Amino acid sequence: MTDLLRLKGVEASYRDHQVLFGIDLAIAPSSSVALLGANGAGKTTTLRAICGMVRTRGEITFEDERIDGRRTDQVARLGIGHVPDGRGTFLNMTVEENLQLGGYLRRRSGAMAQRMEQIFTHFPRLKERRNQQAGTLSGGEQQMLAISRALMLDPKLLLLDEPSFGLAPLIVKEIFSILRAINETNRTALLIVEQNAKLALDIAEHAYLIETGSIVMHGPSEKLKGEESIRKAYLGY
Ligand code: ATP
Repeated sequence: MTDLLRLKGVEASYRDHQVLFGIDLAIAPSSSVALLGANGAGKTTTLRAICGMVRTRGEITFEDERIDGRRTDQVARLGIGHVPDGRGTFLNMTVEENLQLGGYLRRRSGAMAQRMEQIFTHFPRLKERRNQQAGTLSGGEQQMLAISRALMLDPKLLLLDEPSFGLAPLIVKEIFSILRAINETNRTALLIVEQNAKLALDIAEHAYLIETGSIVMHGPSEKLKGEESIRKAYLGY
């Protein structure tokens, strides 16, 4: 089967400061993949590279089409949703308005309303709060809103930047079980950047380890859980 997304020799820099040094990574359709690594290793930049938010060299292919050099909105239209770190929700807008923004590329408003209802089946808490300002939601609900917003265009691939960040364990558990359901029922592929390696390895079938801008290890999550270097540095035992 061909890969849904493929990165080949991807490099990226912020001005003259190079951050990614030839990333190779592949995601199969409907699969779930974790990207692990220490602070500053280049995880966020890898997601930004896929979305066209940083200038890159190398090849990024989505459904056999080169997407490197494309604009962020073009990448979104092709079927890649992005849940950025810090969530990126508009706090002074309601839940529904945030979702409408996420779906702005959908032409028909009927399709938008229908999609919103589909998303609410995964996030009943948001449905109850659809007219509430996003800024009054709990941190967990805001993360749910950020995920929902990215789902509005019904992406084939969802990129998630630290979905557990700053949240209590119980709500993290809830969010990850919703992500698993979205992966299993909608067949949406997931690429999850996570500091919490245990969580990431539990949800993902496959994982990549990035160190100072290069992939140093990858394989099935079950196998990586058994690697001594992963256990010591990322799982803490
Ligand atoms: P973290 O979990 O800490 O966010 P990360 O693995 O996601 O880490 P990146 O955010 O991709 O790492 O950052 C990689 C490197 O690029 C770091 O050295 C960081 O300081 C630098 N960097 C990130 N964003 C910018 C920016 N906008 N301008 C300049 N340098 C940046």
